[in-house]
Amino acid sequence: MESKVDQPHVIVLPYPAQGHINPMFQFSKRLASKGFKATLAITVFISNTMKLESSGSVQIDTISDGYDAGGLASSGGIQHYLPRQEAIGSKTLAELIIKHKRTSRPIDCIIYDAAMPWALDVAKQYGLHGAAFFTQMCAVNYIYYNVHHKLLNLPICSTPISIPGLPLLQPGDLPSFVCSSEGSYIAYLGRVLNQFKNIDKADFILINTFYKLENEAVESMSKVYPVLTIGPTVPSIYLDKPVENDKAYGLDLFDFNSSTSTDWLSTKPPGSVICVSFGSVTSISSKQMEEIARGLNNSNFYFLWVVRASEEAKLPKGFKEESGEKGLIVNWSPQLDVLSNEAVGCFFTHCGWNSTTEALSLGVPMVAMPQWTDQPTVGKYIEDVWKVGVRVKIDDVSGIVNREEIESCIRQVMEGERGKEIKENAKKWRELALEAVGEGGTSDRNIDEFMSKLRRTA
Ligand code: UDP
Repeated sequence: MESKVDQPHVIVLPYPAQGHINPMFQFSKRLASKGFKATLAITVFISNTMKLESSGSVQIDTISDGYDAGGLASSGGIQHYLPRQEAIGSKTLAELIIKHKRTSRPIDCIIYDAAMPWALDVAKQYGLHGAAFFTQMCAVNYIYYNVHHKLLNLPICSTPISIPGLPLLQPGDLPSFVCSSEGSYIAYLGRVLNQFKNIDKADFILINTFYKLENEAVESMSKVYPVLTIGPTVPSIYLDKPVENDKAYGLDLFDFNSSTSTDWLSTKPPGSVICVSFGSVTSISSKQMEEIARGLNNSNFYFLWVVRASEEAKLPKGFKEESGEKGLIVNWSPQLDVLSNEAVGCFFTHCGWNSTTEALSLGVPMVAMPQWTDQPTVGKYIEDVWKVGVRVKIDDVSGIVNREEIESCIRQVMEGERGKEIKENAKKWRELALEAVGEGGTSDRNIDEFMSKLRRTA
């Protein structure tokens, strides 16, 4: 039997944002639970800001993106951030590799966020294996692949788009970056297309999805790259077989009291609460915030609404008092504990990929209110492909989603025949998610394949 010291040592390098850190941290824990030595490399800024509950057997190390004091927010915009991140990140990643070279456990492989392709160049420079980790759904990555290879011409926002393995996509179903020429969107588009610029050099391509969830998109992508689906990366404690030290994601970039939300939920009947969250980045206009607030109140269901501290001033005046016992507003929540609480009947979500796979894995029906980036495509799948939710419609006149639409979508999910069907489908997807990551499931086998190939060649 191989001793622990002979097991490969991987550096896992996420882009410094909550929605990238969570799945990659969780993947690190899974590799560590299966015997690898895993080091999560985060930026100095993230390391100074985060609240770390427990890293289990994963080690934490740092690199710099050139913004140690203020992170991306202090960079003056993504177009300034990305080049500096690449320059300073490459240098400090190389230093990290050299530091570990002097120990008994040098690095064998860099599992890098596909949003940071420069890390693959660094890995190759030092003769290491490189594994690209795609944090977004396969269908979205396949759209970007098609744009990168000019199989689709930009901007693609006027007619429906047909892409092999994907449902017919209307302009409003596409990732926002492919149909806008707005300033920062161009830099974001560059970031998502650059994922493919050197990928031919990658030894492994890992995607945070599972086969049955996107079988046709995975088949299409597999024709061009040997992809391995390894998701969902939801901690095992929320699934069937808990791994030791695997509680929650455990690394939060926002301050919160971990029991406020769950204590409140525990006083509510099963299936009675709407959980509302727009994730860690999305910003909502005050006008839209007011419509959400009114829609929630008018629906008369209980609601738990996560409004980040930076968004709080946009809430309608007096709304907290007005909603009284019906609602709880918090700045951040332990989302997995919330979604797995039996009081939650529906997740009103911005369709971030992690939030969506978390809800799917926990069998929670959704109201989809996508905002930008990959979210419109995820919203399309939630409603039309997986049929686990209802997607809100934007009002032609006001250009936002009005309160009546919000109330109606909540009712469709919480009540009636459509609600029943959606709940049944949500249960089915939970079973399939469990099957994928359970022993011998598609994702579990792919993780084992990745590990055994690395063991043979490391
Ligand atoms: N999250 C959380 N507490 C909250 C809101 C979000 O822990 O109150 C977590 C959520 O579980 C998910 C991540 O933050 O893992 C957000 O990632 P997602 O891809 O859903 O959206 P993003 O923040 O990238 O837009």
